[in-house]
Amino acid sequence: MPRRRSTEPAYFAAVNAITIAIDGYSSCGKSTLAKQLAAHLGYTYIDSGAMYRAVALFVMENGLAPGGTLDRAGLLRALDGIDIRFQHDPMTGHSATWLNGRNVEQEIRGMAVSQHVTLVSPVPEVRAKLVRLQQELGAGKGVVMDGRDIGTVVFPDAEVKLFMTARPEVRAERRYQELLQKGIDADRESVIANIAQRDLDDTTRAADPLRKADDAIVIDNSDISAEEQFRRALEAVADVLARVGHE
Ligand code: C5P
Repeated sequence: MPRRRSTEPAYFAAVNAITIAIDGYSSCGKSTLAKQLAAHLGYTYIDSGAMYRAVALFVMENGLAPGGTLDRAGLLRALDGIDIRFQHDPMTGHSATWLNGRNVEQEIRGMAVSQHVTLVSPVPEVRAKLVRLQQELGAGKGVVMDGRDIGTVVFPDAEVKLFMTARPEVRAERRYQELLQKGIDADRESVIANIAQRDLDDTTRAADPLRKADDAIVIDNSDISAEEQFRRALEAVADVLARVGHE
């Protein structure tokens, strides 16, 4: 058993670095929580969804989704040539997603990419490539990664697994406000429809569908503030560390 248990940064800095996997439905505030935890713990935040979004952007820009249908053979031929990485952006002070040498952070957040992303995320070869990359990025631990299959497939041995959920109408409204704030064009109805479609696509695909890992802690943030959610998550992390005697 560890001798101390606290939620202060010094406590986490004193224990061995762990892996925190955050999964959940679209627009559940996963990235907000993941970034807060990473900042508090001095960990690296990795946005796995950005990688699927970058592949979707590649497909759109290279004529691989004519009429909204994926040219699967074309994507598989191009896959090795798709380079995705994260780089610190001094202009924003945050990490940005780069696709084949270009900063695509802003473009991948738009509705067009959101509407194409579930064309590419069910493709097993795409998943295999991105899962490998995610595992490499998290190999040294000390990461908070969010997505749909992080606690089940990417890091099944993650010490802490959180599964986030919220009522669909709450998520849609948050997403809509977030897009407005970012100056990205969107209408409320398409945001609602897109979230419902992605929930369905993500939970029903054959390859690595979204599901709660058996050992994940569920956080429903429909009716709690971001601060309260952060407090609960931090408590959950401290509890898990205390339970597994990680010191
Ligand atoms: O997290 P975000 O909403 O940006 O993810 C975009 C899409 O990427 C999801 O709707 C899902 O289809 C896909 N995705 C995935 N596995 C992950 C992360 C995201 O299939 N680990």
